Amino acid sequence: MSSSTTPSTAPAVSRPLTPGRSDVVIVGAGIIGLAHAFEALADGLSVTVVERDRQPVGASVRNFGHCCISAQEGELLALAQRSRGGWLRAAEAAGLWAREAGTLVVARSATEAAVLEELRAERGGDAVELRTAAQMATALGRADGDDRDLVGGAFLPADLRVNPREAAPALARWVAEQSNGRILWGTAVTGIEPGTVHTTRGPVHGERILVCVGHDVDYLFPDIAEDHEIQRCRLTMARAAAPAAFHTDSAVLTATSMLRYDAFTARPSAARLREEVIGHSPELLEIGANVMFTRLPDGTVLVGDSHHYDATTPPFIDERTFELLTAAVADVLGVRQLQVLERWQGVYASSSRGPLLVRDLAPGVRAISVTSGIGMTLSFGLAAATFDGTLAATG
Ligand SMILES: Cc1cc2nc3c(=O)[nH]c(=O)nc-3n(C[C@H](O)[C@H](O)[C@H](O)COP(=O)(O)OP(=O)(O)OC[C@H]3O[C@@H](n4cnc5c(N)ncnc54)[C@H](O)[C@@H]3O)c2cc1C
Repeated sequence: MSSSTTPSTAPAVSRPLTPGRSDVVIVGAGIIGLAHAFEALADGLSVTVVERDRQPVGASVRNFGHCCISAQEGELLALAQRSRGGWLRAAEAAGLWAREAGTLVVARSATEAAVLEELRAERGGDAVELRTAAQMATALGRADGDDRDLVGGAFLPADLRVNPREAAPALARWVAEQSNGRILWGTAVTGIEPGTVHTTRGPVHGERILVCVGHDVDYLFPDIAEDHEIQRCRLTMARAAAPAAFHTDSAVLTATSMLRYDAFTARPSAARLREEVIGHSPELLEIGANVMFTRLPDGTVLVGDSHHYDATTPPFIDERTFELLTAAVADVLGVRQLQVLERWQGVYASSSRGPLLVRDLAPGVRAISVTSGIGMTLSFGLAAATFDGTLAATG
């Protein structure tokens, strides 16, 4: 396989592609495509990744970097657990920041604490460690250990943290460095047939083609996307300066998070929790909030998020949504206000039909999109299942 084209050296105009046939051609250099590239290379296969942009800029760099394993249920939990090992292997190979830092879930009412207690009863004390209010206040770095508005919490040790700004670019670099791997940046895929991917720079050939384009699957395969009822979910995010005493690498979840992840919503007290949140924070439910935050290695925090669903994403970020989220995070951290450094909108594929789109489009051609906002969590599990043949087609 020829050497790779990196973002910094990608040509501004088309030039002929280096000829050659890969075992696997992957469309999309987001985390799903790159996890598949990593696993394929680990299996000794040759890989070409085709990416329209010159660096990863999709959902995979806009998220919390939270491999949210423990909050999944059933088959997704198994896939997420499998993903954990892949993330750790990839982190070691590509030298990217990954921490076995777990997740803290804050409980600020008896009902929130009851959901966590029920999860502990279901999963066991090793998977769900209950925390006191004082322990949570310390973990949150609250001034004087102020725990007056806290009831307790839980620590979910299995979860991982990565730096979303670094993970996909570092993996892409690693793929490009392998003798059997190449990445074609600045090369948009325009059509696919068995054995051939048509691009804006000419055809790319491969035995097996994996289409990992996230929410943009509708641009290439509108009928499949419509059949799977794919929509774009847009999320408001911010990066803020962290309060000085907030040091944990653990992701921090709150009550609204418990209303969004199956491990919590499956518990008996979840319905009561929903009523409770409707009662005290209806404005957060109106914006589909999952009030959560994660700390980056530079000490700043990623803050979010809201959920709005459209076929095509409007470009505008609603200021009220942004203010509600940042105020809610400040409240959990026990500070008056966050100093916001950046804000952005993220988009991922969502479907009412199910959490995954896995479709065989033609012999040797498969589309794989996570349609439930947990692609960071599932990425390496999906990739491992693709190559051992256990990832079943959906729909
Ligand atoms: C704000 C936000 C927060 C999130 N938080 C979490 C979280 O905490 N935990 C978690 O597990 N998940 C989270 N997610 C979801 C997760 O980020 C996504 O599920 C995941 O990144 C999807 O990866 P992907 O590779 O499919 O998509 P993307 O990262 O969007 O990559 C798709 C790539 O395909 C390329 N592409 C598209 N069309 C073409 C074409 N025709 N030719 C060539 N290239 C093409 C795009 O340019 C893009 O680079 C979050 C998402 C967002 C937006």
